[in-house]
Amino acid sequence: MLGPVLLAAARSESIRRIVSAAPVTRPVVDRFVAGERLDQSLHSVRSLTDRGLDVTLDHLGEDITDRSEALRNRDAYLDLCTALASDGVGPRVEMSVKLSAFGQALPGGHDLAYRNVLPVVESAAAAGTTVTLDMEDHTTVESTLAILAELRKRFPQTGAVVQSYLFRTEDDCRALTGEGSRVRLVKGAYKEPAEVAYQDKREVDRAYVRCLKILMAGQGYPMIGSHDPRMVAIGQELARRHGRKQDEYEFQMLYGIREAEQARLKAEGHRMRVYVPYGTDWYGYFMRRLAERPANLAFFLRALAGR
Ligand code: FAD
Repeated sequence: MLGPVLLAAARSESIRRIVSAAPVTRPVVDRFVAGERLDQSLHSVRSLTDRGLDVTLDHLGEDITDRSEALRNRDAYLDLCTALASDGVGPRVEMSVKLSAFGQALPGGHDLAYRNVLPVVESAAAAGTTVTLDMEDHTTVESTLAILAELRKRFPQTGAVVQSYLFRTEDDCRALTGEGSRVRLVKGAYKEPAEVAYQDKREVDRAYVRCLKILMAGQGYPMIGSHDPRMVAIGQELARRHGRKQDEYEFQMLYGIREAEQARLKAEGHRMRVYVPYGTDWYGYFMRRLAERPANLAFFLRALAGR
């Protein structure tokens, strides 16, 4: 029941200030965020890739309020592209971007976000890697998929994210099954109204399986973004049933979550990609992780209580 409260708090400026200033917050944040600076995040990336894991890097930033912030976020990603190009890591280390960090919610935001993300996608391609567009709340889905379609005309490897809790997503999956289409399927992390999204977790899970079946049967490249052992097992079974080789789909999990399971999947020969967030604007991401799982919240509350 606390989940919706935490998701509402994730968008509250006053609660952001209180949580961010609490001295105990930092060590808990470190469990989910790979540092505030680029060099710290690249250190984490190297430790993951040394263990055979692939990575998608997210420079944290969302819900910005002016155009200069959008430009700063764009520039942070361009710096990241430069670093990845000099490391020569290729597609094993890609990037995830939230279009709200590029101005999508500002006036004229659709065009602004496209203009800001385009140079990042171009630089990623020049660095031998690619970008996946994270999906945010349901009001952004149309705009994000339209920007994706535009980007894919020149950069077909640009990745999409779809959320099984939205009623519309099965149709979106069908539209995204073309050859080479990279699609990360997740359950969805935002507080959504009953008009657009399943509210019951079991419904969300059932929808996840239906979407996964569509993606696995298609010509694209499914990316199974879940820590749920049942979804992982079903993903493995569907891949086998559709005769997919282990480089024709991948699993994805978040940094700091179920690390033993990440290692196990890798050891079994699966491609396993870890989503690594970094940067100073960690608040919204952090609160969504607390909302997802009582154990994450309990960990934070124990730290607050000094135990
Ligand atoms: P849940 O439904 O939260 O949990 C199901 C079961 O999984 C639990 O009962 C437990 O057995 C197991 N489990 C879950 N978490 C843990 C844990 N910490 N430790 C041990 N067991 C655990 N959401 C978006 O809305 N947009 C995005 O762009 C987006 N990108 C994502 C990228 C990646 C790589 C991942 C993994 C998630 C992303 N998400 C995104 C978040 C996603 O929507 C879910 O909120 C989040 O993954 C929780 O759902 P779940 O499928 O992992 O499992």
